[in-house]
Amino acid sequence: MNRLAVLGGPPAVPREQRDVEWPVIDDEDRKAVLAALDGGRLVSNADGETPVSALERRWSERFGFAHTIAVSNGTAALSLALSALGVGPGDEVIVPALSFIATGLAPVHQMAVPVFADIDPVTFNLDPDDVERRITPRTRAILPVHLHGAPADVDRLGDIARRHGLALVEDAAQAPGALHRGRPVGGIGEFGAFSLQVTKNIPTCGEGGLLVTADDALAETARKGRQFGEVIEPGRDRDYISYRLGWNHKINGLQAAFASSQLARFDGYEQARQENITRFLARLDGLPGLTVPTALPGTVHVWHILRFRFDPAAAGLDGIAPGRFRTVLRRLLRAEGVPVSQYQLVPLPEQMVFRDREGFGKGYPWTVLGGDAPEPGDHPVTRAVIEDSLTIQKRHLNPAAGPLLQHYADAFEKVWANLDTVARLAAAAR
Ligand SMILES: *Cc1c(COP(=O)(O)O)cnc(C)c1O
Repeated sequence: MNRLAVLGGPPAVPREQRDVEWPVIDDEDRKAVLAALDGGRLVSNADGETPVSALERRWSERFGFAHTIAVSNGTAALSLALSALGVGPGDEVIVPALSFIATGLAPVHQMAVPVFADIDPVTFNLDPDDVERRITPRTRAILPVHLHGAPADVDRLGDIARRHGLALVEDAAQAPGALHRGRPVGGIGEFGAFSLQVTKNIPTCGEGGLLVTADDALAETARKGRQFGEVIEPGRDRDYISYRLGWNHKINGLQAAFASSQLARFDGYEQARQENITRFLARLDGLPGLTVPTALPGTVHVWHILRFRFDPAAAGLDGIAPGRFRTVLRRLLRAEGVPVSQYQLVPLPEQMVFRDREGFGKGYPWTVLGGDAPEPGDHPVTRAVIEDSLTIQKRHLNPAAGPLLQHYADAFEKVWANLDTVARLAAAAR
């Protein structure tokens, strides 16, 4: 029983129990999409409530936001936020060196330069001290990400933003429902951006996003930016006047209807996830050399991604590099049936688009700054985290994933009971 699966033993996660999927699509979702299709309100200025305006109302009500603007995806939400704040050519925006690529692209879409700051080793979110070091006279905004569903330190980041006269835009794509000192993330800065992409915690059946703000004027500006610079509202005749630069970032009504249906089940799902994941992490917490993700006091983490860090010395494997330890663990855990994987292979500044300054051509937007474009510098914590960690994604979000996660815990315990084999494989691979 204790024989590792890579050595021919039975895997810790039984094959017939592995097909737990995310998202969960049920008959309520199907009905909601068909009702939207047959409802005759698929254009955004249709009379009465449309599937899009209904989603906006429900999102605002559930999380307590003053304004919700539904858009085509989370990346569009970030770009619209920066645009509405007037971020443009010659400006710098501070973003974390560990995130999904969209966080770094959003400033570039406004012809602004992303400046990457290092992360905190526990929350994996922006390190406020490094943010402060990277502020220049050209900095216009700080763009923290609530990565993996863990709230960033918005108290300190908000304080830095106020002292330097900067905007705070929260990338909450991975964190709907997360709380920082009782306040929903996304509602703390000038703007918060959410993604409804099909793998996120509140998904649609494809692509979607939401932008939230407490500021009436910013909301109006962002709404115009969403739709050609025009004012297009339910029940109001469209006048085809473009008041400012706009795009077509509108969400499809069917995607909105699906997302509303998922939002209606969110609280029940969220409660089940908190229970399942807390029990799972508690079982792993004592394994030497394994650091499980944690919610800091005063925060609610929504566990979009579970990231585990590995320290070979603390596991008693002296002389083995963290990267080597991680590679062997990945192989053994996957053989046991735990689909661990990497999330982000390099720090964002090493992505080719930023490293080679592949923007709008001719070096734009970086050349706008003349010779003053900041050097990327080093991001040692981001580098270490990428080197020594693995993640679990998607399946654990299913509210019925409790038993699967207990099998995952069996697999970790089994591998940890065989650390001598881990050491041998790691040494042989050298
Ligand atoms: C998914 C994601 C986005 C982008 O959202 P899309 O809807 O895919 O455009 C932005 N930031 C982070 C951190 C994300 O995880």
